[in-house]
Amino acid sequence: MKYSKLFPKTIKQVPIGAESVNHQLLVRAGFIHQEMAGVYTYLPLGWRVIEKISNIVREEMNKVNGQEILMPVLHPGENWKKTGRFDSFDVLFKLKGAGDKDLVLGPTHEEIIYPLLAEYVNSYKDLPLHLYQIQTKFRNEPRAKAGLLRTREFIMKDLYAFHESDEDRDEYYKIVREAYLRIFKKLELPVLITKASGGTFSDLSEEFQVVTPSGEDTILICSKCDVVINKEIAGKDCSECGGVIKEEKAIEVGNIFPLKRAYAEVFNLSFTDKKGEKKIVSAGCYGLGISRVMGAIVEVSHDDKGMIWPESVAPFRVHLVGLDLEDKSVMEMAEKVHKLLEAEGIEVLFDDRVGVSAGAKFADADLIGIPYRIVISKKTTEDKLEVKKRSEKETKFMSFKQFLEIV
Ligand SMILES: [Zn+2]
Repeated sequence: MKYSKLFPKTIKQVPIGAESVNHQLLVRAGFIHQEMAGVYTYLPLGWRVIEKISNIVREEMNKVNGQEILMPVLHPGENWKKTGRFDSFDVLFKLKGAGDKDLVLGPTHEEIIYPLLAEYVNSYKDLPLHLYQIQTKFRNEPRAKAGLLRTREFIMKDLYAFHESDEDRDEYYKIVREAYLRIFKKLELPVLITKASGGTFSDLSEEFQVVTPSGEDTILICSKCDVVINKEIAGKDCSECGGVIKEEKAIEVGNIFPLKRAYAEVFNLSFTDKKGEKKIVSAGCYGLGISRVMGAIVEVSHDDKGMIWPESVAPFRVHLVGLDLEDKSVMEMAEKVHKLLEAEGIEVLFDDRVGVSAGAKFADADLIGIPYRIVISKKTTEDKLEVKKRSEKETKFMSFKQFLEIV
């Protein structure tokens, strides 16, 4: 991709009202654009990151036998009235459709998936079922803030798993918990598994929390054992070992919990077991905030110059910076390196702008935060490329072949 053609370019000004690091850097680097408080457009660089995060999540969900579906954004209000959440869910987006019908913009999808499965699940042979989606969700937040950390419209992965018994559900819960740890490892996002109350969903849940000053949750970390608890439910000392606990601000990027039986009862999601007896299904819900993960990565991985993307989700792997491009031979060399890298399957952002200073190009590269920077200039010879990792300070010189070996 040529930077001269990329929409849009970086901007110098910090956007008005942007207090958190992820909001400032993602807007300035041209990854996202704010349309109103808590509502963003994902621009080409940002969308590439979202797609990469989604694919890492998708791969792990498929490994735990998840089947991907896509449920609607628009829900019948009637279903939400049946569960009582039409009135009790505090940040529910409600609207009127044709014929004065109550509609809901889904913040979660129990009200869709339970009635859906009730039509198809009859016997124990139909279970277990693990269905997930990557979908846009809505919350009517009174105070949307902190960039992608608290929004009104966001992208989430939610997996719903249905089982014959609580034992089966708990077995699968452990399997998905492990899959989550693999996902966050690939995303290079340090998470703490935190015990929390289930809130509107269930009695107990586990959250995957990332410690960051921009976070809205307060978690309590035991200084002695590895217990982490959400402050909402905790006392002053560790409930496990009595150790002293310290408070940290954190952002929740994932949440897993068993679902209340009430949903299955309301929508009559039952099945006939091996003995011919009618039973209610046992279920679990597994959420992961895709767009919030993008914001959280920026919060924990940046410096005073810009973002530092992990290789797994960076919009491109190499930022090829061309200097002295007025010189035809330098331009030709830069274009050749661009083509060679792409032929090796390496995604390249090539800063091919003529007449932009080296300082401005380096500042843009640091702001955008692509893992490897290669500089091509008058001084470059083919066996001596100038390579710098975004996460490191020093510049190294190496041949094209040596570079391919390290990436
Ligand atoms: Zn403890």
